[in-house]
Amino acid sequence: MNLSELTLDREGLAAAIACEDPAFEADLRKEAYRIKVATIGPEVYLRGLIEISNICAKNCLYCGIRRDIRCQRYELSEEEALATARIAAQRHFGSVVIQGGERTDVAFIRKITRLLKAIKAIDTGADPPLGVTLSLGEQAREVYEEWFDAGAHRYLLRIEATNPDLYHKIHPNDPLHSYDRRLQALYDLKEIGYQAGTGAMIGMPFQRAEDMADDLLFYKKFDAPMVGMGPYNPHPETPLTLTGAPYPSAERRFALGLKMIALLRLLMPDINIAAATALEVLDPRGREKGILAGANVIMPNITPEDQMVKYNLYDRKTSLPDGAMPVEEMDDKRIVIGYGRWGDSKHFSSALRPGVGKHDNHDSQ
Ligand code: SAM
Ligand code: SF4
Repeated sequence: MNLSELTLDREGLAAAIACEDPAFEADLRKEAYRIKVATIGPEVYLRGLIEISNICAKNCLYCGIRRDIRCQRYELSEEEALATARIAAQRHFGSVVIQGGERTDVAFIRKITRLLKAIKAIDTGADPPLGVTLSLGEQAREVYEEWFDAGAHRYLLRIEATNPDLYHKIHPNDPLHSYDRRLQALYDLKEIGYQAGTGAMIGMPFQRAEDMADDLLFYKKFDAPMVGMGPYNPHPETPLTLTGAPYPSAERRFALGLKMIALLRLLMPDINIAAATALEVLDPRGREKGILAGANVIMPNITPEDQMVKYNLYDRKTSLPDGAMPVEEMDDKRIVIGYGRWGDSKHFSSALRPGVGKHDNHDSQ
């Protein structure tokens, strides 16, 4: 396949995803990088990743911290989480992501609300207050509202698989794991005024090239201002791995991860696309390669190291040391880091959203 033959409809995207020709894949990544720089510039934005807890009420069949897996559980205290956010401020990261297992108990909800307020009050010197992205799963609409009012302005909730049949193959079949509810949660987030990001895993058992093409078209239809998608990485003790169902090799999942970033950049030139953590466990320079394939966001993990090792979503999750920064030059390209900036998606116009003014954009400087 040649780049000139690529079309961005379902058929064309699926053909590109299925094509394993390295020359085509390299040309595609190069073109996506070119489009990114021409549309939103060369900057890469940082989000310090704080993995607040590996306690989860859900039981997704692929996840190494699912409710029914035996592992050592932890939860950062408010003070620990705040101290970690202060490190992000000191290092001029501009933003943090608070991610964790899904919990809907009142104690947890209120703790996040207090933490958000405390993070927004951190003295960042000349920088704007820290931007905060949450990734804490499905919550009641009122909870999303409470957290938005407390200062969170972006929320990452992956749809995981846009094909409902595939979704049901990788989740238990019960009301706690409802496809429709997850979709509704995404629309709730958008209506409240969050920059609602989504994404899916890439290279899962049972997943076809057409499913991945549909994932890309879903991001476009949802008009996602940011997308965080990444390769599926098996965890040895999860039900999905234990089914023995085949999935692409690590090398293919990595190439697919980069290819999905590149195709999405062609489809949605001005959105934020994260080079997911899952890329870096497949290749120590995975994040940088993601940037050169069209991504513009990196999330250095700043979770305290003794807890980070317990946030074991998949095999070899913690291959990079605590807070490791991307190299700033690769393949003759300089990776320009937008220090001290929120790095909001150029695609997101707060003027079109309710809640305007609550979270002023801090990227104008
Ligand atoms: N609990 C929240 C949720 O699920 O939305 C946020 C935390 S969850 C650990 C973050 C993401 O990890 C999920 O959206 C999922 O895509 C990813 N993840 C979990 N297990 C994975 C695996 N085996 N391979 C790749 N990604 C995985
Ligand atoms: Fe829990 Fe998220 Fe893992 Fe599902 S993916 S089991 S919701 S932490």
